[in-house]
Order: sequence, then C-alpha cells, then structure tokens
Amino acid sequence: MTRHRRTAPLTRAIRIAYYVLLLSLLASCASPTQTAPVFPTFILITQDPNAPPTATPFQPSGPTDTSVPSFTPETPTQIPTQTATQTPLPPTPITAPATTAVPPPTGDASRTNYILYGTLDFNERTLSVDETIRYYNNTGTVLSDIVLSVQPNRYGGAFVLNSISQDSATLTNYTLNDQRLTLNLPQPLQPNSATTLTLNFNLNIPAKSSGGIFGYDFNQINLVDWYPFVVPYINGWVLHDPSSFGEHLVYDSSDIELNLKTGSDVVIAASAPSEQNGEWTRYRLYGARAFTLSASNEFLVAESAVGSVVIRSYYFDGYQAAGEAILSTAVDAVGTFESQYAPYPYQSLAVVQADIHDGQEYDGLVILATDFYGEYVGGPRNNLTTIGVHEIAHQWWYGLVGSDQALEPWLDEALSVYSERIFFENNYPGNISWWWQFRVDFFKPGGFVDMPVYNAGSQRQYVNAVYLNGAHFIDDVRERVGYGNFAKFLKAYAARYSRGHATPADFFALLRETVNVDISDLIAAYFSQSY
Ligand SMILES: [Zn+2]
Repeated sequence: MTRHRRTAPLTRAIRIAYYVLLLSLLASCASPTQTAPVFPTFILITQDPNAPPTATPFQPSGPTDTSVPSFTPETPTQIPTQTATQTPLPPTPITAPATTAVPPPTGDASRTNYILYGTLDFNERTLSVDETIRYYNNTGTVLSDIVLSVQPNRYGGAFVLNSISQDSATLTNYTLNDQRLTLNLPQPLQPNSATTLTLNFNLNIPAKSSGGIFGYDFNQINLVDWYPFVVPYINGWVLHDPSSFGEHLVYDSSDIELNLKTGSDVVIAASAPSEQNGEWTRYRLYGARAFTLSASNEFLVAESAVGSVVIRSYYFDGYQAAGEAILSTAVDAVGTFESQYAPYPYQSLAVVQADIHDGQEYDGLVILATDFYGEYVGGPRNNLTTIGVHEIAHQWWYGLVGSDQALEPWLDEALSVYSERIFFENNYPGNISWWWQFRVDFFKPGGFVDMPVYNAGSQRQYVNAVYLNGAHFIDDVRERVGYGNFAKFLKAYAARYSRGHATPADFFALLRETVNVDISDLIAAYFSQSY
C-alpha cells in the first residue's frame, strides 16, 4: 500500500505550474534495452474438481530452478460430499479423485486450499458463496480451534454466514466476533493432518467508503479480503487489530480456485486468468496471499504480456492515455523485477483503476486511484508511474515474500518504495534525483524504520519512518555492501522466503550470510532495536 502521494497538499495553481515545469523537464525518457528475463514454466498442481480420477499424483515438471516453488499434490481423502445449503450447489461438485498412490501432504510444502463457487449479482450488489477450505495443520502443535479472518463482517450487515461444517458434520460451536471467526473443533486436529471446512455465506456488498476499497460505487465493485480465510499460526493465531491507517492482515500463502457466475455485461478484473468451467468462469491462483477481483460494467481493457505473464490494464472511458501508459509501465516493471528479484509469482497481472485514495497491492492485481489517471500528462514523472510501480513491486515484497504488515511493515514497504528507485535506474536513469525528491525527500523522512503501524502517531509519521526513511536505510545498506552484493542478496531473499514469511531477523541474517560487510552502525542509526 502507499500512503504518500504528494498532490493532496498542493493547490490547483501550484499543480498547474508544477505540470508546466514537469513537461519542460521531460526530455529523454527512453527505456534502455533490457536483458530478457528467464521465465519459468509455472507448475499448476492443485486439485482440479473436474479432473478425471487418476492414480498417479501430479509431479512438478519443468525447470528445476530452486526459486520456483514446488507444488505438493494434496490428499483428496478429506473432501466431503457437499451438503445442501441455502444457495444452489455448483453443478460440478467437488469430487474426490482416486485415493490410492497419493502421498500424504508433507509438512511445510502443503498450503491451505480454497475452492469457492460464487454468484455475483452486480446490480443487486450481492454475492452468494459456497466455500470449501482444506486446511493442513503444519503448525507442529495440536489445534483445538481454527481462527479465520472475516473482513466483510467489519461492515454492518455485509456478511451473512448461513452454514459451516467440518468434514461433512455441521459445526455449531463457533464464534463470529467482528473480523474473527473462531471454530472450536469437536476433535483436536493433530499435527500433519488435514481437515475440510465448508462454509456457505452471502455478502451484501456495502457502499465503498471514501477512504476504503472494499465495496461498490456507481459502476464498480471491489472484492478485496472478501472471503473467510485461515490466518497464519505463528506461535498462535495471527490476526491483528485493524488500524486507522496501514494494513493489519497477515496471510499464509495459499491456493485459491474461484468459480464465478455474473452477468454477461460485467467485466471482471481478477488475480488470475479465467477459463470456462461449464457455466462457470473459473480462476485459479497458486501460492498467493488472497484472491481479489474488481467488477465493472464500464471497464475498458488494454492487454500486453511479459513472456507468459498476461498483463491487463482496466480503466474507464476518458482515461485511455493513462490506462495504456500504466500498461506499458507494468510491462517494464515486471521485466525489471523479474531480472532483479525472481520470476513473477503468478500467471497474470491486472492493473485496475478505481475511485480510491492512493494505491493498493493484492496478488496478481493492483488498484490505483482515478486521481493518478486524471493527473497523467505523459512521461514517468508522476504518481501513476511511481505508485503503479510501487504496487507492482509488492508482488514480490508482500505476495511472494510475506511478512507481518502490522508489526513489521517496513519489510515490504521500504523494499517496495526502494523498488521504485530500482525501476527508475533500469528504465529512466535520468530521473533518479527527481524520484528521490518527488517521492521521498519532499516529505522530510525520519523516525525509526521498525515502527509498527500502531505506534506511528499519524499516517504522515508512519509513512515518513517506515516507507521513506526505510528507503534511505535500504539505499545506505546498498551503498555499503555494493550494488552487486545487494542484488545477490535480494535474489537470495526472494528465493529463500518464496511463498513463506520473513521477519526482520531473517532479513538481516540472510544479508549477513550473503555479504560479509558490517552494517551494525546503519541499523543502530535507523532502527529502535538491534538485529
Ligand atoms: Zn506499499
């Protein structure tokens, strides 16, 4: 997420003068030739409910690049027959393939699997959902309960839970309190065993608040953090309280399949590519924090690709130049970050215009404010480019490498701000000084980089410390250890914590493992605690 665009405090007159100046400064912005990144074959190995039964488990195939996650076949033995719910059952029920010769899930490699069948009534702003969750207890401990995040329940009347069952038995011993759904299990769930949860719920999609993202406005519905998901278990269930700014959720990497029905006049921007599945449109997303979609009956779409990664820009009438410009920027950003960090983690990227403040990252989908599109007058010196690149960088620092956004937000935010600089030096190297001034130093950054979202005081103080001073910290470390060593470290960091969680201790331990250069004075200068 970004919370640091600079246009708000400027008066209209200053803004006009600014753009005149900006136009005069836009000289040569040609992109240097980039080396072609190497694209892995994405390995799609999760349960396909329509796949014919097979006695042979899928095996990962293709390149043996260790940075490519291995997808462990999941045991089909825990899939219950779905019981009647208040919405019609999907016509293609989830059926269990053969149970022989399929190895049990192995520890850390098995992820929680979500299969959702949803019917979206765009005009009525309702969504009815059957959700099946296959959860593997990788915690190493016996679980007497399972905690799910239910963000829509923070909006009055938006979330209606109709039924919930565990392994085909109706579950009645649960509590739903604000964002927290706690399931008290009749039988403890042993380590390295799995259980299947089935939920039926309805969303009465609320009007989007002026500062929010979830909900509808006159021509768009944004479904973000919209389905119940099992929160990470890291010495206990991790579900932090919301904050008035910043982000509070922490996610495990999971596999998600959404089967969606909606009106034919509605265009869906989603975290994954679509395919037909009978009368459903199916989306499958692997190794991601969450599945996000935005629906509109007025989207215009521009499309491109980086290798096999499909990139689409969804924009509205009157914003074509900006909508096409951010598509081109997204192509450059994905190419740059693939060569600098790791292969792009998903099959597609959607860049979506919406009437929100600033920008927001989700797996395979980023949302950018209509203001940025409206301000766009060409070139890279603008919020559309910088914040667009920032949210795309989160595909690596948030999506691929997860972290605690509430308690340790600098881990993904400082790296994503600094990724803008890396984008500029690879694509618009004449604009690096401009970038520092426009995005960072204008705001006079300061404060401890390791500030939790709850201790920041104001949003301005939070951004100045975590994002902007964080970018200076990263820059100082990079200057100290050397650009080549730092690039090597970022690749190692992306590979080691791919689809997992990283902590600041992990970050610094790997940095020291990769580069034998003392940075303790920099940590002391920027951080409140030592590492
Ligand atoms: Zn961000």
